[in-house]
Amino acid sequence: MSKYVFVTGGVSSSLGKGLTASSLGRLLKQRGLRITMCKLDPYINVDPGTMNPGEHGEVFVTDDGGETDLDLGHYERFIDESLNRNSNTTTGSIYSSVIAKERRGDYLGKTVQVIPHVTDEIKERIRRLNSEDVDVIIVEIGGTVGDIEIVPFVEAIRQFRSDVGRDNVCYVHLTLVPYLAPSGEQKTKPTQHSVTELRSRGIQPDVIVCRSDQPISEGLKRKISLLCDVPSQAVISAVDAPSIYEIPLAMHEEGLDRVVMETLRIPQENHEVDLSTWEQLVERVESLKKNVRIGIIGKYVNLPDAYLSIVEALRHAGFDHRAGITFDWIDAEMVPEQYGEEYLRQLDGIVIPGGFGERGIEGMITAAEIARREQIPLLGICLGMQVMVVESARNVAGLEKANSTEFDRLSPHPVIDLMAEQVDIADLGGTMRLGAYPAMLQPESIVAGLYGSEVVSERHRHRYEFNARYKNKIEESGLLCSGSSPDGRLVEFVERPDHPFFVGTQAHPEFKSRPDRPHPLFQGLITAALVRNNGREPQLLDLDAVH
Ligand code: GLN
Repeated sequence: MSKYVFVTGGVSSSLGKGLTASSLGRLLKQRGLRITMCKLDPYINVDPGTMNPGEHGEVFVTDDGGETDLDLGHYERFIDESLNRNSNTTTGSIYSSVIAKERRGDYLGKTVQVIPHVTDEIKERIRRLNSEDVDVIIVEIGGTVGDIEIVPFVEAIRQFRSDVGRDNVCYVHLTLVPYLAPSGEQKTKPTQHSVTELRSRGIQPDVIVCRSDQPISEGLKRKISLLCDVPSQAVISAVDAPSIYEIPLAMHEEGLDRVVMETLRIPQENHEVDLSTWEQLVERVESLKKNVRIGIIGKYVNLPDAYLSIVEALRHAGFDHRAGITFDWIDAEMVPEQYGEEYLRQLDGIVIPGGFGERGIEGMITAAEIARREQIPLLGICLGMQVMVVESARNVAGLEKANSTEFDRLSPHPVIDLMAEQVDIADLGGTMRLGAYPAMLQPESIVAGLYGSEVVSERHRHRYEFNARYKNKIEESGLLCSGSSPDGRLVEFVERPDHPFFVGTQAHPEFKSRPDRPHPLFQGLITAALVRNNGREPQLLDLDAVH
């Protein structure tokens, strides 16, 4: 049977619960334990698919097409396991199944209540993850203890310990220890209040992780230990780290994995930790010698979390070349007025990311045009690829007013169009193509060279597709359709063979990048960006320099 770690947070949101949980996951994995993770989100949306990325951050897509919270991206990047739609549950999805059951009469005439019906449903979602193949399930509870919406979740995880046995559950609580400059002191009171709040719901934490900008002294740990009734070695100091990838090592030094294993009665002897691969990664992260400047031309640029996986994928590719990335967030609506040719030419590379809706589209098309003409490396992702196709159609193939029907339903040349009837779409999120789909790459193409394979699988999240009717015209304009669905009907990759790096994909490759296994397309972009950064003449991509 699997054991469970529940991670709650107090005092403030955005303390990094997801990263703490992910780091713990990686540490337990490095001890030879089999891990999976899950996030319980107390909001009412059934899933984050409908939420504005400018407010809530990106929607992370799993292989099976789950539209999930961005924390699942951290989980996958840290524990390097593919998660699925069951790895994220929201209040909305809990209530919709409770209400569906009530309508079906499953509750046999009982009054349906938060306790036990909603809490049972929550526990059922957690239990679903239990399997022969998993030793420890780490469950992060979104929100902050004390929130109205979180109460049923806290109650459910409280009950869970009696259900599965004391030694099979560990409660980790994350709090903030602020430093007050006038008194020159770190303050433990918010932590005490937060633990009191948790206890008032019946949960005594086993481990308290304290976020702070400076290390928590042993004396302060003893104080928290005394007041919150946890052993002093179970008070973990989590200091702000220069890179998120340093957190697992810092947490290990503090003994997080050890106390969690002790609580779960997992013998340490059989599970020596081997952190060598992660240490090598951190060594690379800490020894970046170069820097490239990458412009992200999108519409949600005020909240970089909206493009979190892209940011991380770029960083991963950078680590590989010992190159740091300077991000230049460019509001597509300000292209070209504020960010014209002169500005974009200063960039080493450009990403046009995914997105929905018309705002900023013309700016993205102009940026793609400038990147094509000025030989600036460009990676187009999903909407970004569609924009590259529209640009080539309009400006090279001479198809006036070419567009996606998402933005111009009456376009005389709908080079991107709804192709729903051609695709075998499950009834997930309406008409979206969601989740992993295979693609066949053209031999000798740039993308095949980058992937080192002619069959690849990437995750999707979009409605519109390259309109096959325009394939010949677009290819004549020099934009090669270098990858397609196995039946050949859907275009999955495009590229310009005569350009240092002008590659677009209908998929979202960013979701599959790992810190120690950067994604080939991002590696290609960064390699080309480094050449440009060196001030060398634009040249075709040297595949040998990529890996
Ligand atoms: N809006 C486009 C579509 O639905 C692109 C979506 C995306 O970039 N994820 O096809």
